[in-house]
Amino acid sequence: MNNFKFRRHLLFTIFFVINFNLAWSQNDFTLIDKTVKFGMRHAENRKINAVIVHSTFNNAGGEKYDIELVIKQFSHYKVCSHYIIGRDGNVYYLVNEKNVAIHAGKSQLPNGKRNINANSIGIELLTSFDEAPTKEQIKSLTFLVNDIKNRFNIEYVLRHSDIAPDRKTDPWNMDWEAFLKGIDP
Ligand SMILES: [Zn+2]
Repeated sequence: MNNFKFRRHLLFTIFFVINFNLAWSQNDFTLIDKTVKFGMRHAENRKINAVIVHSTFNNAGGEKYDIELVIKQFSHYKVCSHYIIGRDGNVYYLVNEKNVAIHAGKSQLPNGKRNINANSIGIELLTSFDEAPTKEQIKSLTFLVNDIKNRFNIEYVLRHSDIAPDRKTDPWNMDWEAFLKGIDP
């Protein structure tokens, strides 16, 4: 690793340590660095006011919940989310929150605003059409969303199907109302 790369790596590490270390160390899941360079664009001082919850799985052959295969599929379509939550509740981060991830597609917030990627954080749950999120996933998602709400002025916590109802049905098989009861006001 050359010096510049090392310094960038160090800064990135410090960013995550400051944001997450204290709170996240008290939880029984791991935050795993899977940072990517596709399906995202760099941004400075973007305003974050929405969290969008999705589902995804690998349907290109092989284990459907294999994180590497899911990321490979994202790279193929040049899409990404900031986070993916595995079936065991572990949280993979792919895009730094300060940057834009390409996860919402053609969609609209309740206030009429489009271009949702610019102002949102995207979180994917590994689930499939016939399986619900695990208890561990809901626990991690609840913690992550409350953590984001602590750090940003979040106006909306929505499903992909809420912002693109004619195109999208995810997150699949999720008890959304029960999840929202765990989210801080
Ligand atoms: Zn989605």
